[in-house]
Amino acid sequence: MPSSSALRSYDFRLRRPAALPLHIMSAWAVPDECAGRVTSAGNTGIPRHPPNLRPSRMSRSHPAPSLVGPLIASLWLACAATTAHAEPGANVVADIHALAQKEQQPLLDTLRDLVSIESGSKDVEGLNQIAERVAGQLKQLGGTVEILQPTDVYRLDDTPEKIGPAVHAVFKGTGSRKIMLIAHMDTVYLKGMLKDQPFRIDGDKAYGLGIADDKQGVALILHTVALLQKLSFRDYGTLTVLTNGDEEISSPGWRSTITRFAADQDVVFSFEGGGTDGTLRLATSGIGSAYLTVQGKSSHAGSRPEGGVNALYELSHQLLQMKDLSKPEQGLKLNWTVSKAGTNRNVIPAEATAQADARALKVADFDQLEKTLQEKIKNHLLPDSKVDLKFEVRRPPLEANEASRRVAAHGKTIYQELGLSLKVDEKATGGGTDAAFAALKTNGAVVEGMGLSGFGAHSNDAEYVQLNSIVPRLYLTTRMIMDLSTGKLK
Ligand SMILES: [Zn+2]
Repeated sequence: MPSSSALRSYDFRLRRPAALPLHIMSAWAVPDECAGRVTSAGNTGIPRHPPNLRPSRMSRSHPAPSLVGPLIASLWLACAATTAHAEPGANVVADIHALAQKEQQPLLDTLRDLVSIESGSKDVEGLNQIAERVAGQLKQLGGTVEILQPTDVYRLDDTPEKIGPAVHAVFKGTGSRKIMLIAHMDTVYLKGMLKDQPFRIDGDKAYGLGIADDKQGVALILHTVALLQKLSFRDYGTLTVLTNGDEEISSPGWRSTITRFAADQDVVFSFEGGGTDGTLRLATSGIGSAYLTVQGKSSHAGSRPEGGVNALYELSHQLLQMKDLSKPEQGLKLNWTVSKAGTNRNVIPAEATAQADARALKVADFDQLEKTLQEKIKNHLLPDSKVDLKFEVRRPPLEANEASRRVAAHGKTIYQELGLSLKVDEKATGGGTDAAFAALKTNGAVVEGMGLSGFGAHSNDAEYVQLNSIVPRLYLTTRMIMDLSTGKLK
């Protein structure tokens, strides 16, 4: 709910441009910083209301809906062109907010459709189906849309034979800024689990399989684009949408594409959920794994042990010499967690393997860790054993930079227009996301957590999103794109 103090700061007086009839102008005020001066004709005496009390007024005596969007957008642009740092007028805020409110039900309809298509990361049929659904909606919105199939696959230990598609859409505008919106269409769930978690709305929450992670993100992107259409806002250079079908298996098929498309963007917004309190995240942990394989030689453990090379002994030596490589002070962690050796009690084991979990906050830390590991394995206990180490970056870390801090700070001011406060976290907490792939080669901002508030990702019951986060998030994304496009946010 907007607070009265927040509204007071937007209590601009009105000014009527000569070209527009007074009754139209009375509904959509131009902030007086923008108008430059205040004319008496502008003061219509129409009371200004909190944004969420406004929509009924629109349906009563004001311009037809088809006029609403273009008018708000043109006033917005007029303002943005004349003042670099002007705040939007109360009525511009209110009207974009009112349009966001109108978009809530269509967004929920889309969300119901998306949840109803099962799309586990290994369910290529389901992923093709959801990709068609998403691509269709993006086409209707006027984008140049293609469904892509993966060609450049980074094979990880658990990468399936077939990887699902991605949907890529580009909306061309009249400006120069490049903005990309990303989310993922796949879920962690196996086919058949939907019946236990169908889409349903109960009180202030919408429940459904994969709804928080990450169907809400896809729906929010689709309806942000729809909202910009309704505003006739096209002042960006390009608005790119990319939704992939393999995030939950560490994006083996789409990581390089995400990095490539993101490389020349000014801003990438990633629509993973915003947690329970809608926090934007500027950093995420990198996740890596190390696989150690030792080859020895088998022999009878009772009659001729000296004829073997004990792979288990060598593995144990290797693990002990690689057990203290964590650097907690810089967020680097390496822990050996799985091992396997031998086949029979009476056979000297010929092979032994181990796996480690690695976490890092800086891309460079993984590079250094891999070098250290490769160096360490040269030191053998048993000279005749063969030791191999494979290091996988399942996900690089996302690191905050000046650009992402600036964009997130602007997000806070946009939330304040609604009387809301926005949290921004630049300390990585646990899981990694595709935002990190987006950040690998761009100098622009990458902001994660733009999605709805919710809970229960990857759980077998009660995954939900909070309905009261829909309008603020639609408003936030729309206004961010507008301010980036018009140069109000550099
Ligand atoms: Zn996710």
